[in-house]
Amino acid sequence: MIELISETLCTRCGLCVAVCPTNVFSQKKGEVPTIERQSDCQTCFMCELYCPVDAMYVAPHADETVGVEERAVAELDLLGSYRAAVGWGPGSAGRLPLPGETKVFQATKAAEERPRAQTERKGVGLHAP
Ligand code: SF4
Ligand code: SF4
Repeated sequence: MIELISETLCTRCGLCVAVCPTNVFSQKKGEVPTIERQSDCQTCFMCELYCPVDAMYVAPHADETVGVEERAVAELDLLGSYRAAVGWGPGSAGRLPLPGETKVFQATKAAEERPRAQTERKGVGLHAP
């Protein structure tokens, strides 16, 4: 569930408001969005994925709020951590990553470029025979 928007990091771009499928946020012109309807959050992580400055934290708890403090979340490097984990790099300005920019793409490409005999020997081939 969405837990935090950092007022100090937020650039007020409004992307999180635009992408949220359940209209959780409200935003007055030029201001930091507010979490107005937290119980409507579907824990889809879209807002965190799109935030270009990693100013958000969505907790993996879908059915309850956990109540986080910004300092604790920042110290644990959790702001934008979901986005980092799936390979959407910082500064993406809300766009999808290009091929080659994602860790998943790089890992897949490396596996594909491995000599076929090696992948077959290890039983980790990506393709069906
Ligand atoms: S996690 Fe999904 S549903 Fe929840 S606030 Fe973010 S975009 Fe909206
Ligand atoms: S996407 Fe991030 S920077 Fe933009 S308004 Fe939302 S919290 Fe602020």
